[in-house]
Amino acid sequence: MSNLPVLVLNSGSSSIKFAMYEAGNGKREKLFDGAVDGIGTAMGTFWIKDAAGKKLVDQTPPLPSRAEAFALVAAALNSADFPKPAAIGHRVVCAGPTIRENQLVTPQFIDELESYAELAPLHTPIAVYILRESLRLFPGVPNFSCLDTYFHRHFTEEVYTLPLPPEYAAMGVRRYGFHGLSYESIVHELEPKVPERLVVAHLGNGASISAIKNGVGVDTSMSMTPFSGIISGSRTGDMDPGVLIYILRKLAAGKPGTLEAADELESIIGKKAGLLGVSGLSNDMRSLREAIAAGNKDARLAVTLFTRLITKYVASYFAELGGMDMLVFTGGIGENDGDTRAEVCAGLSALGIKLDVAKNKSRGMATISAADSKVVVRVIPPAEDLMIVNHVVRLLH
Ligand code: AMP
Repeated sequence: MSNLPVLVLNSGSSSIKFAMYEAGNGKREKLFDGAVDGIGTAMGTFWIKDAAGKKLVDQTPPLPSRAEAFALVAAALNSADFPKPAAIGHRVVCAGPTIRENQLVTPQFIDELESYAELAPLHTPIAVYILRESLRLFPGVPNFSCLDTYFHRHFTEEVYTLPLPPEYAAMGVRRYGFHGLSYESIVHELEPKVPERLVVAHLGNGASISAIKNGVGVDTSMSMTPFSGIISGSRTGDMDPGVLIYILRKLAAGKPGTLEAADELESIIGKKAGLLGVSGLSNDMRSLREAIAAGNKDARLAVTLFTRLITKYVASYFAELGGMDMLVFTGGIGENDGDTRAEVCAGLSALGIKLDVAKNKSRGMATISAADSKVVVRVIPPAEDLMIVNHVVRLLH
């Protein structure tokens, strides 16, 4: 295959990130990347940097809505300054029960995705908008949807079934799992020697843990939505469902419409909870570590809740996998925060996990376990974009 420029698009609530890769015959070379950030504000940022880090675009445009933001990206990428993409790969965070495969984006596919928007009201409407606009603004360029749920498609019935009457499963209520492109990239990095019993902790602003057997995802901490599992920057993670009913009743009591109360509840558990909610300070681990160093007790409690839950999940996956050959930390916190890794692993000493204190200070790719640890512990940065490029190249053929 000759070299093809493949554009990777990753759209979030306040930003659109993108990167162009040249792909051919196993080659994956980043040409440039960029982002529009601050959607919904009077002054956002729009930048593009080449592979050497030189800024090619550096603007602070008004970004009242996603429409202006994506129009800027499309206008720049359709200009003569950049190679025209041969294909576009979209990271799609959520799908529905019938959308399990990565595939060519068609208007029918987008309609189907939209029909499941209620399952993921914070993510799917954004994906639907960007996919429709991408077909319009890049005419003739094939677009592919690459799911964050794809890695988890082999779950057995007892893993994906949630304990509810079957009519809810028929509506799409089931465990999907997220961060799949990150998990896939860790397995890809470990190939051809993927350990039989692998646990990966993806600890970023959103956080989840997965049990992986012979390279196949068998369980994960997130469920139907990214709210579940371990606590994240601003999300609760697992919580007694009775708490939700209690809060919803409280909210609905002072509201004319219960639906509004449900929206508010979603905002509480998704945007005002987690590390931010407990610390009352920040969802950002760097700020929390600074606060802990200065003696802030709420920051200490927030981070302890976080690491304690990670320890519990890893230990449960040890049982589920019948042991553990390797534990991998990834994501912004997993890669950079040695204190989090040390606190999690201290809680796992009963499993024979031991860190090498000096090696744990390193950042980026490293093996950080002690020589006599029963489990190899590694740090591997995720490479989600590269997985998207790989899927696009495979699907183009
Ligand atoms: P991500 O969502 O993967 O970009 O990760 C974001 C999280 O990584 C935030 O909580 C950051 O505070 C955290 N993070 C990034 N760099 C560091 C660092 N040097 N030390 C501690 N946490 C970090």
